[in-house]
Amino acid sequence: MKSGDILMFNTTICSIPHCKKLALSVQNRGKYGVFCAEHMPNIQWARDDICEYITASNKIITLNASGLDFIGLDFSGKRFYGCIFRHCIFTNIIAEKMQARLSLFEFSRFIDCRIVKSHILAASFAGSILYNTDFTGSELIHTNLCGVSAENTLFDNTDLYNSRFIRAQLSDVSFRGANIQNTVFYGIVQKNITFKGSNAGHAFFSEGVTITKSEVSFPTGKILI
Ligand SMILES: [Zn+2]
Repeated sequence: MKSGDILMFNTTICSIPHCKKLALSVQNRGKYGVFCAEHMPNIQWARDDICEYITASNKIITLNASGLDFIGLDFSGKRFYGCIFRHCIFTNIIAEKMQARLSLFEFSRFIDCRIVKSHILAASFAGSILYNTDFTGSELIHTNLCGVSAENTLFDNTDLYNSRFIRAQLSDVSFRGANIQNTVFYGIVQKNITFKGSNAGHAFFSEGVTITKSEVSFPTGKILI
């Protein structure tokens, strides 16, 4: 990306009547026709082709891979710009020092993924499920994590500046040493989460949450905004 380039998502809708799902595409070319993952006549070929494209490219721009499953791939060092991965399932993905800017991972599932030391900016994981996933040492800045359901997940030493976890469900989640300046945690439901060593005093929590120098304490039950 050069500075000044305008990044556009490819939000073309599937050509099957009444289907509102996003069509698969690579760099705005009609390589796969105009079909979502569900209606793609040769979905295995399209999926393999997209995986090959990701594997062969360092810079991935305006890819729309919505609805696909990715298993056991290595996204380390990849740079994603303006990509859409809605309703995807990521299993056993390694992504060390990955970059993702202005990219959408909404309503997706991340299972046993290791997304460490990565730089994620202006992205959205809204409505996604994070299970046994590690973001340690990453930057997740200006990013939408509203409504995520996270379990056994690490944000240790992660920079979450100005990101939002509104109405997230967090169970066994660690924010040890995280930068949560301007990070919004309104209305979360939590069980066994820790903010030890983070700068929690600079984050936004619902009323009733107590912040001491070294930890955050939540009242029992659901907290409403
Ligand atoms: Zn469709």
